[in-house]
Amino acid sequence: MATERTDVDGVSVPTGHFIGGEHIPSETTFETRCPFDWDWKLADIARGTAATAHKAVTAAAEAFPIWSGYSVRDRAGCLNRLADLIEENKDDIATVECLDMAMLLESLKLRLVPRGALNFRNYADIIEAHEERVWSSKGTTNTVIRMPAGPAVIITPWNAPFMLSTWKVAPALASGNTVILKPAEWSPLSAAKLSDLINEAGFPKGTFNIVQGYGHDLGAALVADPRVKRLSFTGSPETARKIGHAAAENIVPFTAELGGKGPLMVFEDCDLEAAAKKAAGQFDDSGQVCLAGTRLLVQNGIMAPFLEKFHAFTDTHVMGDSRDSATTMTAMIHPEHFARVAGFVDRARANGDEIVRGGKVHKEGCLWYEPTLIRPKGNDSEVVQNEIFGPVLTIQGFDSEEEGIALANSTNYGLSGIVYTSSAERAERVGRAVRSGIVWVNCFLIRDLTAPFGGIGESGIGREGGDYALDFHADLKTLQIFEGSVS
Ligand code: ADP
Repeated sequence: MATERTDVDGVSVPTGHFIGGEHIPSETTFETRCPFDWDWKLADIARGTAATAHKAVTAAAEAFPIWSGYSVRDRAGCLNRLADLIEENKDDIATVECLDMAMLLESLKLRLVPRGALNFRNYADIIEAHEERVWSSKGTTNTVIRMPAGPAVIITPWNAPFMLSTWKVAPALASGNTVILKPAEWSPLSAAKLSDLINEAGFPKGTFNIVQGYGHDLGAALVADPRVKRLSFTGSPETARKIGHAAAENIVPFTAELGGKGPLMVFEDCDLEAAAKKAAGQFDDSGQVCLAGTRLLVQNGIMAPFLEKFHAFTDTHVMGDSRDSATTMTAMIHPEHFARVAGFVDRARANGDEIVRGGKVHKEGCLWYEPTLIRPKGNDSEVVQNEIFGPVLTIQGFDSEEEGIALANSTNYGLSGIVYTSSAERAERVGRAVRSGIVWVNCFLIRDLTAPFGGIGESGIGREGGDYALDFHADLKTLQIFEGSVS
């Protein structure tokens, strides 16, 4: 039996599931380790089974009539209190996530954990400001009503787990749905820490449940439960297909954000320094970012000066302890993932792709891979077409704008795109032509929480963010009342 709490570098973390407002230990556990010091075992965490899934869905189903019956003001109150508590506990959440996933401590404290709090605050504001659409047509008054749908299962991946989970949980709760969150097994600690705050925020017991464990047993049982009314997933296309089958079986709406192979387009007229710096910045989290611009597409006329600047910026990366403010490039999450990334580069080499830089482990036995740039033999090379999710970028040249756009749109993915140009006309033209859920021009990762977010093709289905997520989580109803006298 797992101890109910454990100490992770001075932070007390619950090790069990959080179901029906209680921490529940488990007889079986899995361990989590620190990516930048793999010998450091951080914790043994409860490993859920199908029985855990059943229990959590039961708690969420029982809480649904209570939570969905809360007024918008009361729901917003709980969301805002949770946001306050996240801010109060920011340093502890940041510490465990830094150790668990190796994201930079400073960026967690300054950016990612506060953004998690903002996710809740933002949805509190949106539901309070929401006005139902009312209009008159054909002699009737029409009103669009968002009805809470039921328990929602939210399955999240191991990268940026805190920010990503809160981004999905907040609209579900704001909608009046109850939630079962299953974080990824490689980075469970920040969700465990979040479970400490839920009762204090005032949510009725069973409204927000968190279960820990693996996808193939616990996750599969959660998504297959017919009492679940919404499925929200971020992860790989392979898993999305399985969850999609479960969604089809139970006829349940489902959103999936599945990663990308974003182009980073560099045009001759751009600020080359800024573009090269941003390109080298794609190595920051060892490339474990679904929105990353991993395919550098550079106009041929500036290829040489671009490369010179790109190499100079890349040379400044510092690999080290993620708690250290000098570190810029974090370790990869897990030896299995490391081997997967290294495998891509090995196959690229065998395929005849040119390894321009990197292509090897930083130091034997560690989880850093050298920042790697590959010039592919052709656009059909595996490293161009498949998501690697590591510090591996490809570089391809193009002459005309049309050729660049064709390359940008030449994979099955479509999550994000980055364009560097100083021409307003080109920004508009290329921005509209690139097929992806978001295109950033002369910037990256700035996102308004009310904007839609999601992918095209293998990057996923559905949109989250702002009202889009609230529409997803609601059963929309049109109430139509005859305006004349009732005969
Ligand atoms: P990644 O490549 O990011 O690890 P995965 O799709 O393997 O992506 O995992 C993302 C999340 O999906 C994790 O929380 C994992 O436990 C969960 N998961 C994996 N397989 C299943 C499944 N069959 N059903 C439900 N969830 C799953």
